[in-house]
Amino acid sequence: MPDAAPLPVLTTQKAWVGGRFLDNRDGRTFQTLNPATNRPLCEVEVSGAAEVEAAVEAAEAGFAVWSAMGGTARGRILKRAADLLRARNRELAVLETLDSGKPISEAETVDVHSGADCLEYYGGLAATLGGEHVDLGAEWNHSFFYTRREPLGVCAGIGAWNYPLQIACWKAAPALACGNAMIFKPAELTPLTALKLAEVFKEAGLPDGVFNVVQGFAETGQLLTQHDRIAKVSLTGEVGTGKKVMAAAAASLKEVTLELGGKSPLIVFADADLDNAVSAALLANFFTQGEICSNGTRVFVEAPIKEAFLERLVARTKAMRIGDPLDPDTQVGALISAEHRDKVRDYIRAGVAAGAKLMTGETLPDDPALAEGNYVAPAVFDACTDEMSIVQEEIFGPVLSLLSFSEEDDVVARANATPFGLAAGVFTRDLQRAHRVIARLQAGTCWINTYNLTPIEMPFGGYRQSGLGRENGQAAIEHYSQLKSVFVEMGDVESPY
Ligand code: NAD
Repeated sequence: MPDAAPLPVLTTQKAWVGGRFLDNRDGRTFQTLNPATNRPLCEVEVSGAAEVEAAVEAAEAGFAVWSAMGGTARGRILKRAADLLRARNRELAVLETLDSGKPISEAETVDVHSGADCLEYYGGLAATLGGEHVDLGAEWNHSFFYTRREPLGVCAGIGAWNYPLQIACWKAAPALACGNAMIFKPAELTPLTALKLAEVFKEAGLPDGVFNVVQGFAETGQLLTQHDRIAKVSLTGEVGTGKKVMAAAAASLKEVTLELGGKSPLIVFADADLDNAVSAALLANFFTQGEICSNGTRVFVEAPIKEAFLERLVARTKAMRIGDPLDPDTQVGALISAEHRDKVRDYIRAGVAAGAKLMTGETLPDDPALAEGNYVAPAVFDACTDEMSIVQEEIFGPVLSLLSFSEEDDVVARANATPFGLAAGVFTRDLQRAHRVIARLQAGTCWINTYNLTPIEMPFGGYRQSGLGRENGQAAIEHYSQLKSVFVEMGDVESPY
């Protein structure tokens, strides 16, 4: 049953600029809805040009203070913020569940912790960031050069709605560790928890202006991507949005990191541990109601085990508990919006119309409590073919397409036959085959004998149209800093003039 503790009462939410809430000038607001009921949670003020300008000014002032601090001092604040996030885990998880529709069982164990882990990891790295020193030897008069790793300045983060707090942390933590300031715009469908992160940062001692939040739709995002005093933009969103963001960023040659969509393959060879492979297929498709960019939605199973795999997969999918996201027993919550639910249902209908066999997922449990929310029962399709829309396009919902194969070369070619390249997984007990196949897959984030695990230490990102740059790990440091080379002459200047 849902926790009996009272739910938060939310007043109108605003931008957070320079360490405090900022009223917007024109009074425009939008509503954020609870996906489980489609009732409004609160009003949110839209940030327009004036608010974005104020955020840039505040971020420039914050940057001056923050970038002058040493890495140890910066890291201490990020680690304190990690501790505060963990201490407020329950409160933040409830808010995330109300705003996103994901099960509280996930929000409490994954979302807040992943954000806190990220702050802790980059808090630890902050003191270690530096350049190198290279002696050039006698032929250069014993001159040398050194490099300095310097921040970029004011960075913009633009988030998607599936992991709102986690995305805010995954962008802010490496940016701030490198000494940058950030202006973050959460997705308009999930505007709430980024503001909590701002409060947490303030409590942790972050100087005002180093982390700011603006609110709104694509237009607010465009004010950021077009701003010539913003040095970098990191977007998590759809491929089409990524292209627009990159084009806008080109006008002022901003750095870009793009974390975009996918249609990733999960390949199961006949020698795989069947139960583990089925567990991974479930994780790869139905966690967060299927609203995960890296999901392995094309499940290729080698012919000899396909029927056994399907039987276990369908049985375990049917047993999943769909319901109120705040109920700790719920495993499948509500999709983000009624519009998105309808899009996912349309894909399911298109799959049936194209001749794929819907093994489960047609109907919701007969529970009146589900009637008002954006629920879709997890769907498993058999008898899929590679050209069907359910196999080709990102659905971003709980829809799994099962495909069968007989030859390694064939499955690698089919797995790679997509413009996306975010993730991929391989299940086999054959060590050499596992590494051989992974090396041939065109994807930036891969798993062998598991799926969708994203420790903060591991770089995350896509090949091809799934993105540019990397989040997490040491790799993200490259994307939030710039390298200055300094040559130091130890002799005379030799000049032919
Ligand atoms: P979206 O592209 O519609 O929106 C993402 C963000 O961009 C929102 O904050 C939105 O307001 C903003 N935006 C939209 N148009 C813009 C523009 N022209 N200029 C600037 N900002 C703009 O994506 P979504 O529906 O919020 O999220 C779902 C998508 O995100 C899926 O495709 C999913 O695969 C992808 N995603 C990728 C990752 C990853 O790490 N690769 C993670 C989560 C989600």
